[in-house]
Amino acid sequence: MPETVRLYNTLGRSLEPLQPISDGELSVYCCGPTVYNYQHIGNLRTYLFEDLLMRTLRRAGYNVKHVMNITDVGHLVSDADDGEDKMLLASKREGKNSHEIAEYYTSVFFEHCAWLNIKRPDIVCKATDHIQQMIDLIVSLEKKGFAYQSGGNVYFDVQKFENYGELALLDTSALKAGARIEVDSQKRSPLDFVLWFTKSKFENQELQWDSPWGRGYPGWHIECSAMAMEYLGESFDIHCGGIDHIPVHHSNEIAQSECASGKRFARHWLHGGFLVIGKEKMAKSGGEFLKLDLLKERGFDPLSYRMFCLSSSYRGELSWSWEALEAASNTLRKIKTAVLDAKDDGDATQSSNGQRVQELKDEFDSRIFNDLNFPSAMAIVHESIGDTTLSSSERVALLEDFDEVLGFGISEWSRDEVPDAILLLAGKREEARKSKDWSAADSFRDEIIAEGYEIKDTADGPKVTKV
Ligand code: AMP
Ligand code: ZN
Repeated sequence: MPETVRLYNTLGRSLEPLQPISDGELSVYCCGPTVYNYQHIGNLRTYLFEDLLMRTLRRAGYNVKHVMNITDVGHLVSDADDGEDKMLLASKREGKNSHEIAEYYTSVFFEHCAWLNIKRPDIVCKATDHIQQMIDLIVSLEKKGFAYQSGGNVYFDVQKFENYGELALLDTSALKAGARIEVDSQKRSPLDFVLWFTKSKFENQELQWDSPWGRGYPGWHIECSAMAMEYLGESFDIHCGGIDHIPVHHSNEIAQSECASGKRFARHWLHGGFLVIGKEKMAKSGGEFLKLDLLKERGFDPLSYRMFCLSSSYRGELSWSWEALEAASNTLRKIKTAVLDAKDDGDATQSSNGQRVQELKDEFDSRIFNDLNFPSAMAIVHESIGDTTLSSSERVALLEDFDEVLGFGISEWSRDEVPDAILLLAGKREEARKSKDWSAADSFRDEIIAEGYEIKDTADGPKVTKV
């Protein structure tokens, strides 16, 4: 019997115990990346939260099926159907076809996820591989009277769905008057959204398929409904995404899915908060757009970013700063040192304390099972490290056990790795080289050598090894 896990459900805005549709099983759908550009560390925060969720659910004893889509068509510049398709914009920008763009950014995305120890979902599905499922769903909406054609596009008729504002707590009466979005003259109501673009607004539209309404391409929202239903059925347990998806994308997913099936779509809706810089959300357009590579270039182990994200609740805003990353990196280093010291210790003279181990495990679990309270669970990690009633091997085993969800790869830590402090020096040397400050670069190199390491510049960038 799995443990009880309580999660904050955006649908209803309350902390609720998870109640799976099938005992012991959980079906989870997460909105994946739009692969027209790199994912910045803000996007990655959302995937980190989802990784922590999956690991926590599995630790609680559930058999989890995790599905994530890859958006490679249909996501326009504005979530509310305005502007050009993001994939086509990228094609123009980079002089490649959409397929090449999607392949490239998808592979970089998974590479960055791997750096962060984010586990690959059980099923990763591309929108362009599921066009038929989207068409079938739109046909069924049309048959039931929830869709209409206008100006060459097929729209969802929001006024036919009574519960439209439920997830976002929208005052639909105000929105119907056009308060939020510009009124598209082809829409019956400003809240209506495109299911299928039949007449492309753009010349030489590369991404297009035959459909009952003519050649065209799907709207963004229908993708997620069609793929979630394909792999998880018409009703499933948990749907996740970033907080920005609540008012448009997820509200639209619910509307079209529930009208097509007549059933509740997802039971629990979980949303990750934004990574912000100052007061601004980190975004691909405008503002500072930080990639994980940059953190690496500056000498940070990407897992320091994982630690940084663990320091706050997934639901709130998290304020980015290099100083906070440095603090997270120090925390990770402290834990590493404690684990490696404990691994080196002989246990011969130490007494063990199995009861305390169990208490610490139970406390850690109760915190993460309470809406993924990782900041509070980290306090138990530190308490365990400092608990002198435990033997060294108990401490190591306990940390390795917590790591099932923390995901730092603790069991693989060894003394042979290049320490973070040395990597930070290598990062500073690289920065100095980039700004052509050769004497500073040389002095960082000397420091690295003095610590017993060697730095070589290779085609893949500087590589540090122990001499
Ligand atoms: P996109 O590739 O733009 O569709 O975004 C991928 C995911 O990142 C979505 O779930 C977004 O909600 C999420 N996201 C976008 N910006 C941020 C941010 N600044 N902080 C956290 N998550 C974000
Ligand atoms: Zn989605």
